[in-house]
Amino acid sequence: MKIGLFGGTFDPIHWGHLRSAEEVREAFRLDRVLFIPAAIPPHRIARPAAAARHRLEMVRRAIAKNPGFGLSTVEMSRPGKSYSIDTLRHFTRRRSPKDTLYFILGLDAFREIGSWKDFRSIFPLCHLVVTSRAGCAEPMSLEGMPVAVRRWFCYDREKKVYRHESGTYLYFIRITDIGISASGIRRLLRGKKSIRYLVPLEVATYIKRRGLYQQRRGGQ
Ligand code: ATP
Repeated sequence: MKIGLFGGTFDPIHWGHLRSAEEVREAFRLDRVLFIPAAIPPHRIARPAAAARHRLEMVRRAIAKNPGFGLSTVEMSRPGKSYSIDTLRHFTRRRSPKDTLYFILGLDAFREIGSWKDFRSIFPLCHLVVTSRAGCAEPMSLEGMPVAVRRWFCYDREKKVYRHESGTYLYFIRITDIGISASGIRRLLRGKKSIRYLVPLEVATYIKRRGLYQQRRGGQ
């Protein structure tokens, strides 16, 4: 099986996340993309605005109708900060020899990877799929990445892809620009504005029923 792993805070999940996962699933012919909501995102100074159980439930509802999508609670069930390396080790231990893991992340997240816990250990465990992100002007390549990251990859001219010495690949993929961000959605909600057509209806309904994101909490 080809399995995509898509981590995030999903605070809340929106069409940008969903379309990105769908385009990667199709482009790489993945059997499944697993959404993995973080319990405690290590890189955010402020804690998530919505409780973990709400973020999880919103993801569950948003992906329910897509058989190519699944939900993993591995980060939610693990105490402490949600480090990607721990998650990838978890999936590496559990996978069958026939499984291949694709770790999906946006360009904005990828350019921070050099500051992630044990980031070098991530590279041999999975292929990396870096997606474009609206508003993120950086080139879709390793240029501009810190040497600490760049040095582990070489460019395979024949395959037109970056390769790690362990044999895993680093792909850059252009996806449809959807300029939606969770922080923008939270801002709208605090201002009592509509979020219709930015998130699936199920998510908007859930947010409304629970009265989520009405006040500034944590950071944004
Ligand atoms: P925030 O605005 O709070 O920073 P976010 O919208 O970036 O949140 P995250 O949960 O932090 O959402 O993102 C999870 C992953 O989804 C990241 O890899 C991010 O790059 C990617 N992503 C988020 N929004 C989009 C989008 N509109 N298009 C493509 N990728 C996206």
